[in-house]
Amino acid sequence: MPHTTQRYDALAAAKSWSPAYKGDFKMQITEIFGENTLTLEGLKARLPKSAWAEMKKTIVEGAVLNIKVADSVALAMKEWATEKGATHYTHWFQPLTGATAEKHDSFITPNQGGGAVSEFSGKDLIQGEPDASSFPSGGLRPTFEARGYTAWDPTSPVFLIENPNGKYLCIPTAFASWKGEALDHKTPLLRSVESLNQQAMRALALFGVQTKRVTATVGAEQEYFLIDQEFFYRRPDLMTAGRTLVGAKPPRGQELDDHYFGSIPDRVLSYMLEAERELYRLGIPVKTRHNEVAPGQFELAPIFENCNIAADHQQLTMIILKKIAKKYGFECLMHEKPFDGLNGSGKHLNWSISTKEGMNLLEPGESPHENMQFLFFFTAVLRAAFKHQDLLRVSIAHAGNDHRLGANEAPPAIISAYIGEQLEDIIKQLLNGGLKNSIKSGLLGLGTPVLPDLPKHAGDRNRTSPFAFTGNKFEFRAVGSNQSVSFPTVVLNTIVAETLDEFCRELENNLEKKGFEKALKDLLVKSLKETRKIVFNGDGYSEDWQKEAKKRGLLNLKTTADALPYLTHKKNVDLFEKYKVLNEKEVHSRYEIWSEQYVTNLTIEVDTTEAIAKTMVYPAAVRYINELAAAVRDTKKLGLKNSGAADMLKTVNNALNDLGKALDNLAKVQSKLKGQTIGEKCVEYKDKVIPAMNDVRDAVDFLERYTADDYWPLPVYREMLFVK
Ligand code: ADP
Ligand code: MG
Repeated sequence: MPHTTQRYDALAAAKSWSPAYKGDFKMQITEIFGENTLTLEGLKARLPKSAWAEMKKTIVEGAVLNIKVADSVALAMKEWATEKGATHYTHWFQPLTGATAEKHDSFITPNQGGGAVSEFSGKDLIQGEPDASSFPSGGLRPTFEARGYTAWDPTSPVFLIENPNGKYLCIPTAFASWKGEALDHKTPLLRSVESLNQQAMRALALFGVQTKRVTATVGAEQEYFLIDQEFFYRRPDLMTAGRTLVGAKPPRGQELDDHYFGSIPDRVLSYMLEAERELYRLGIPVKTRHNEVAPGQFELAPIFENCNIAADHQQLTMIILKKIAKKYGFECLMHEKPFDGLNGSGKHLNWSISTKEGMNLLEPGESPHENMQFLFFFTAVLRAAFKHQDLLRVSIAHAGNDHRLGANEAPPAIISAYIGEQLEDIIKQLLNGGLKNSIKSGLLGLGTPVLPDLPKHAGDRNRTSPFAFTGNKFEFRAVGSNQSVSFPTVVLNTIVAETLDEFCRELENNLEKKGFEKALKDLLVKSLKETRKIVFNGDGYSEDWQKEAKKRGLLNLKTTADALPYLTHKKNVDLFEKYKVLNEKEVHSRYEIWSEQYVTNLTIEVDTTEAIAKTMVYPAAVRYINELAAAVRDTKKLGLKNSGAADMLKTVNNALNDLGKALDNLAKVQSKLKGQTIGEKCVEYKDKVIPAMNDVRDAVDFLERYTADDYWPLPVYREMLFVK
């Protein structure tokens, strides 16, 4: 009888993987940093003085660039890129798929006479015209209007992507319909940056601080899994859905906690070093790497940058992590939940506000109770998060992230803010009528003279909080590992701009009557009375918190289907319209697109689950049943006792029947979905299709535990997670 050997082949190949490189790896960070990006300094050196002066105004102050300057910039870029061996350029943009898109044009067009014309002018730099019809538009663009425009974002540096056979220049661009409606992530991000800038400058002026510009800063920590490619290509679910749709829990998962911060396996370290080198060369300041909680899970974190550049760099980071992984025989899994029963992956979005001169507006300093400017901005963020919990939740809502939020491991679906003991105490003081002191952090005595006294942070960490104040920034931890950081950042920028606007108005109105200090204190007290409901320093996973949050009236939107409809509520449409971040149509289009994506992703999962169950699991179980049945027959003939084989036969056969029933039910549930609106479909998927799919999984996972190992076709968890 033929046995399934392909899984064993994979195992053997994975175990004997050896590197193709010869140990001539070089990494002089200072020499290579930014060599594949044309930094502002680099551009300055290549531009005539007057052109640079205008360009700088555009970059720093957001002034409109004239076409003559664009011509000079285009020339400089082309020279830089071609000197480095690039032959093509592309407008690099971020459609609402969440991925990036590009269409390449050559710098040089060969002509009939055997010569070649060089083509890349200011016009080509500023504007591109890719066919937009294959990108999601959510009704913004009727199909007969295929036109879409890409528009150069001069504030984000261009960069080179390399391939062994050539290079091309990537120009970060925005992407819009021909009516100027945003079809991408960058456009609203840039708009929100502008609104936040205006309101924060206005607030700072009240505090007597002059600055040219204020911007949000972002540093996004990226979690991911690595598995050997040999396994990946034998798992149709990983290939199509990005996560395992079936698979029994291994006897040993993350229970021993020995992977977190453990020493990094050699092959993984080699991979990380090369990925980081590529990121350095692109001018992306990566800083930290370590093992994460689950086996096979890792993390990489950069140094923060202005949010627009950080968002571009984050997309690039994902691209590079995936690309380099293949060189090391790995597949880099960015899905929020590749493996059931193990921790999922997130992207911690660290967010703050900073002046152009580098003053962090969320830096409390040594004695926050005396730092009224800090308390003002800090309260504004809390208030914004309180008022717009729904939007923060929407900004992280997608099928993959539903496996984390609400499940007992990642931040819960209730949006709350951890602020630590010191700031909690200051809020209490404020509400009790006076600010007297700040709880000091002090020194951490380690009880032995050989170890130095360490300065203690004023607040401990709280891993369960979805939105935590961590020293001098907020950390939005509920963001999904696979998603773009843009929209969560757009939401943060916009809701904080709104609160700053309202705070400023109130201060300005009361300035004469009360004087600045009194007006400010009154404002903070008034706001915090209600806003502090969002503050929660305890255990976000506990039952008690669910109850307490309900009492406080906080939202608990457990799934994407629950969260997405909030996007188009009047409060939110008004907000985005007022701060010129998205118009009503753009808001609605996003609701449509993300709902469609939710349904599409789940449909892919259902189809793949069915295919695996029917074409891989069923046959394996049937073969085993045959073998068991033969054993039962033969032992009987020989007059031997055969209860073991007979019991097993019964167990496996019953399990196969259960699988058949679960599959029938899944098909039935799905067949009822036709003709519904997208909103209804989302709810049906959540309430009926997902549970039916989970039943199929349960039946498959049961069979995995009982079917002969050499018949089981799918690489199992212990192999994927522990073989490196
Ligand atoms: P931890 O998560 O352990 O507190 P760090 O303090 O090193 O780690 O910071 C984590 C991330 O937060 C890094 O990407 C870092 O660049 C980013 N970060 C630090 N300060 C800011 C800031 N002011 N604005 C945005 N991100 C920041
Ligand atoms: Mg963190």
